[in-house]
Amino acid sequence: VRDGLRMAVIDPLTGLHNRRYAISQLAEIASRARSSKRPFALMVIDLDRFKQVNDTFGHPAGDAVLTEVARRLAANIRGGDLLARIGGEEFLIALPNTDLANANTIAQRLCRAMQEVPFDIPGFAPLDLTASIGLAICDNGQTWTEEPVAAVIERADQALLMAKSGGRNQVTISHAAA
Ligand code: C2E
Ligand code: C2E
Repeated sequence: VRDGLRMAVIDPLTGLHNRRYAISQLAEIASRARSSKRPFALMVIDLDRFKQVNDTFGHPAGDAVLTEVARRLAANIRGGDLLARIGGEEFLIALPNTDLANANTIAQRLCRAMQEVPFDIPGFAPLDLTASIGLAICDNGQTWTEEPVAAVIERADQALLMAKSGGRNQVTISHAAA
């Protein structure tokens, strides 16, 4: 039973929280942000050209890369920050009590953490990889106080698409419409 419960909230490959858990925690973070009138930041992080890794080096290599991405993300944020794997090569980070300037600093740090050190893949030469990040701030001091969590995620996803079309390996910020 205990393993069953663990599987309900944990992604078995990376050991990070899964999408379902992330969504439930986001609702908590948003609710606390509303009552404290503090902003929170949401990032959607997508590894660039991941399909190529799988296609060229095989799925075990892809899995090794994803595990290493998870490790690097976890090593570069605080224990109290929410980190989850929400899709194949897509990760989510929520930072309570964090404004745009600080969130942008952190997002840039995470991009660097991918780019700076090539990824080891068993049986192949180390591989240079990058990530793109979409960043949305939900600022509860502002007029969009009641923005639903789904809308914040949607904004981060849109920002991620812009980071991809802007050439990848970058952070793009979504500015909320008031
Ligand atoms: P900084 O790295 O420029 O971060 C500025 C502010 O961004 C921090 O202010 C904090 O409010 C927020 N912030 C930065 N990284 C994170 C993060 O991973 N998660 C969350 N939730 N918030 C983050 P703060 O706390 O007053 O820290 C001031 C400075 O102290 C930081 O400037 C950094 O230079 C240093 N610092 C604090 N904690 C750490 C740490 O665990 N490791 C390292 N290397 N430096 C730290
Ligand atoms: P932690 O708070 O869980 O943070 C884990 C890692 O996230 C840090 O590893 C760092 O890579 C990144 N990080 C977190 N906050 C910041 C920040 O404000 N700025 C920057 N640039 N990076 C940040 P690191 O640096 O090896 O620190 C390991 C642990 O040591 C931290 O775990 C925290 O418990 C403690 N620590 C380090 N520096 C500070 C500090 O300035 N103030 C406090 N209160 N704790 C610190």
